[in-house]
Amino acid sequence: MVLLIGIDDTDSRQGRCTTHLVYRIVDFLISNGYEVEEYPFLARLNPNIPWKTRGNGAVCIKVKVDMESMEGEHVMQVVKEMVESNSMLGYGANPGIVFLGRCKSIEPIVRFASDALWRVMSIRGAIKVIEECKDDGCSIEYYAMGNGQGIVGALASIGLASSILDDYTFEVVAYRREEMCGLPRLVDEASVMMMDKATYPYTFNNYDYKHARVLITPHGPDPVLLGIRGDDPCILLDALSMIKVHEPLEGYMVFRSNQGTNAHLANMLDASNLKAYTSGYIQGRVASEPLAIEGGHTFFALECYGSNGYGNGEDGYGKGNVLCAVYEPTGLSPIAQALSIGDLLEVGGGVRKGTTKHPKVLNVEYIKVVDLARKVRYMNPLCICGKRLKSEGKGKGYGCKRCGYRVKDAEKVEVEVARDLRLGLYLPDAKAHRHLTKPLHRYSIKPGCMRLDIDWFNNNGFTC
Ligand code: ATP
Repeated sequence: MVLLIGIDDTDSRQGRCTTHLVYRIVDFLISNGYEVEEYPFLARLNPNIPWKTRGNGAVCIKVKVDMESMEGEHVMQVVKEMVESNSMLGYGANPGIVFLGRCKSIEPIVRFASDALWRVMSIRGAIKVIEECKDDGCSIEYYAMGNGQGIVGALASIGLASSILDDYTFEVVAYRREEMCGLPRLVDEASVMMMDKATYPYTFNNYDYKHARVLITPHGPDPVLLGIRGDDPCILLDALSMIKVHEPLEGYMVFRSNQGTNAHLANMLDASNLKAYTSGYIQGRVASEPLAIEGGHTFFALECYGSNGYGNGEDGYGKGNVLCAVYEPTGLSPIAQALSIGDLLEVGGGVRKGTTKHPKVLNVEYIKVVDLARKVRYMNPLCICGKRLKSEGKGKGYGCKRCGYRVKDAEKVEVEVARDLRLGLYLPDAKAHRHLTKPLHRYSIKPGCMRLDIDWFNNNGFTC
């Protein structure tokens, strides 16, 4: 039987990483002869949850165990002990583990997971789903430490790992030796650029050429040396072998994931009732000229009607004006500044809570320009000689400085202004991408297949 193990919230900003703990658990399972069914699933959940440590990740492992013998009990016991002894309990971590064995219907867990991608879910809600599954005959157990928040992600990771996803990606994560954690990561920048060029378009977000920045290495004291994301696990292993690393490594593991798929932005938000910390998209027309403020951030209002072809408001999504915030680091400010009243847009992002100082805003993660409004200026009419006439004063008509022609009863004429913006999808710069942001080139890529006949797990302290 397959046992699903969901784990979340084991780390803190001071150190450790849930993916590394999962790597160690997989090491234990494989070393003890257990068959791990597929690559662990790295679920990225609603990125606008305020209490996340970094990328709101949770992981699910699927392992074959004989539940008739003591195997299941043994595995669960070891996992519990490993989570307990390898978590940053007392430093902000609130670990949660969910074990799911026999299950009649995974549907309630899948639904919970798909909500956790864009909404705020409660611990009570997660426990309710678990209890309902139990009442329905599922063998499901949970363990919560700290304040229990980790249960949400642990359950959601099982739901996403069990969902039939239209889109998914892979990531190979290489881990540092313990003694190296906290020291600068010794990864050769030129080799990252070389790998990026050699593996494009099957890997993504390796290097930010605009800002000359390596994107595959994190910056904290955690044990992740680097992570390469892409659409094909075999190409990821090739990519890893191309990176020159000047430090010894503990090992690596390949994950399947919803990273790079925009899974958090799939739902339309109700503009008439925006909820803080939710993620999604809105559609409507620009209702105010963009306002650029100090620091290069830009704000504009979008008048939303609901869905249904950019809307007639008949589908339950009320009308509403939404203030959209485009922050400088996204690189999208020039696009926002080129918008004009009446432009038809779809805008994706996360809702920032309103405070007494700041209104509730949608922090923009993409802008899709669907239609451009006609923009006009009113100018003096042209003279018969081709030069533009000059006004002779209020009510006195116009005269030509070149040929002397005069006209009394002419009026200003409408002149169309060329728009400095094209229709299409605009995404943030790579350095500002969230884990879930779908890179532009991935819109035309189909996910690759999972292969267990490759070296997807390595604990040999390999060198690159
Ligand atoms: P890392 O990426 O380093 O693993 P993290 O960013 O995933 O860290 P966590 O320390 O796991 O951050 O904290 C996120 C917490 O938020 C977890 O307890 C998780 O269960 C919870 N959580 C995740 N998604 C939601 C959601 N949609 N609603 C409520 N809580 C959530």
